[in-house]
Amino acid sequence: MSTLRTPRELVDNGLIAPEGLAGIERVAGRYAIAISPAMADLIDKADPSDPIALQFVPQTAELATTPQEREDPIGDLAHSPVEGIVHRYPDRVLLKAVHVCPVYCRFCFRREMVGPQGLGTLTPDALDRAFAYIAEHSEIWEVILTGGDPLVLSPRRLSELMQRLAVIDHVKIVRFHTRVPVVEPERIDGSLIAALKASGKTTYVALHANHPRELTPVARKACARLVDSGIVMLGQSVLLKGINDDPETLAALMRALVETRIKPYYLHHPDLAPGTSHFRVSLEEGRTLVAGLRGRISGLCQPTYVLDIPGGYGKAVIAPDTVSERGGCYTISDFRGGEHTYPPEA
Ligand SMILES: *Cc1c(COP(=O)(O)O)cnc(C)c1O
Ligand code: SF4
Repeated sequence: MSTLRTPRELVDNGLIAPEGLAGIERVAGRYAIAISPAMADLIDKADPSDPIALQFVPQTAELATTPQEREDPIGDLAHSPVEGIVHRYPDRVLLKAVHVCPVYCRFCFRREMVGPQGLGTLTPDALDRAFAYIAEHSEIWEVILTGGDPLVLSPRRLSELMQRLAVIDHVKIVRFHTRVPVVEPERIDGSLIAALKASGKTTYVALHANHPRELTPVARKACARLVDSGIVMLGQSVLLKGINDDPETLAALMRALVETRIKPYYLHHPDLAPGTSHFRVSLEEGRTLVAGLRGRISGLCQPTYVLDIPGGYGKAVIAPDTVSERGGCYTISDFRGGEHTYPPEA
């Protein structure tokens, strides 16, 4: 079996009903579709609200765009000094070398940039300019390879990128953002792992996973190979309506990550990407869910809940309201909702 890319293939594999074909053809005209064999296998076709299907199988709801949604929801373009680089924070840059992914998530925040009609792969000249920018800016301590999914590149291409970073002394950390260990775990072999490392640099891999079922035994094995090789892994998830917006699923997801030696890092509030309103929960619902995780499961399993402020202002932590102040005296809420004065009365 190979990756499913056309509405016809989705019908042939029982992922959409034949009478839905015309509508999904219209979605396919706007947004890229790809479902890798591992993800197609994981879908329970008998369940109309299967959380894996909801992430990858297109729906006509994507054709509806709300007035607040925007093509560049987190303002990448406003902070792109040269093609392929986003420099929003002083000490780190995104390097977007490719704009293809092994799967296309229906809620993708960069859905207008990724896919066959997206921004493509950086030309050799553009890549030279991107590396020159990194080399010229000594404040850049960390380079974050994202896209798209950088792990679609061959080990040879990845190793070229790492070798070019290896000679830039001020870059200490290289972070990859990827879904590959889950969606195409067979790619994580010895040569790919070797390509992610370079002497003098510390490699982090941030895995994007949204539902505990994604952490299959094969996916866990792929992650174990990365961690065994000395790479540190982080988890990042998107809070998605109908997929993980309940306390049990979120807790199971965070535990599955920690069991796999992946530290939950961010839980992203969904961005205002076009045609994604059916995935969005309110900030208040998100806060309640995240506050509920605090008392319920281990501190190891707690992600930081963040919102990327539309317009390119960066990420903001959406913390639960646990502290209030009045006349120099603080009231602190515990995880059960009890209130305590701080400092306590003598
Ligand atoms: C999210 C993001 C980062 C990474 O932020 P961290 O808080 O370090 O994970 C860096 N640059 C840009 C432009 C981003 O959007
Ligand atoms: S893997 Fe990331 S960049 Fe690719 S479609 Fe999914 S969310 Fe978008």
